[in-house]
Amino acid sequence: MTIRLITNSPEETQGIGLLLGRLCQSGDVILLDGDLGTGKTCFVQGLAQGLEVDSTVTSPTFVLIAEYSGRLSLYHMDLYRLADGLVKFDLGLDEYFYGDGVTVVEWPKYGGEDIPAECIWLHFEHKEFDQRTIECSYVGDKFFNTFGRFRVAISDGPQDLLIDLD
Ligand code: ADP
Ligand code: MG
Repeated sequence: MTIRLITNSPEETQGIGLLLGRLCQSGDVILLDGDLGTGKTCFVQGLAQGLEVDSTVTSPTFVLIAEYSGRLSLYHMDLYRLADGLVKFDLGLDEYFYGDGVTVVEWPKYGGEDIPAECIWLHFEHKEFDQRTIECSYVGDKFFNTFGRFRVAISDGPQDLLIDLD
């Protein structure tokens, strides 16, 4: 089951995040992959709104994990600074992934073996100017609930976002 979306502005990308955030359930893990500037943090800002987080989500410069409280706790990880591979110690990320909140990860590939194979994943690509595509899918039955409801929300929602649904 894959959903392919197109967005033409940061606001549209936040809107997609908002849709998913409203549907998120305890224990959801969302991995965001894609180059710098493709809109991952922008998406997380919308996701946070959907989780009724009051504070503004930013790209943390020195922290790997920012925590926000909302309808559920939101853990926002940005692992970009682990790209050089110098950090070898156990990051202890499991308490987030297997806890009660919602965990969203930018640059999951730098988290190595700590990153769960079962997840909702979104792949962001820069097309032109303000255009981005987002491909969405999931691995693992436990995410069917959230992902299936997201798929329904997208297919019922603004059709100009949708490229493909299968
Ligand atoms: P990332 O976290 O992937 O590095 P950010 O979300 O921090 O990316 O930044 C995306 C940048 O691209 C922002 O400056 C945003 O204003 C701009 N932008 C332009 N068009 C879009 C779009 N359709 N979706 C998301 N961001 C966009
Ligand atoms: Mg970012």
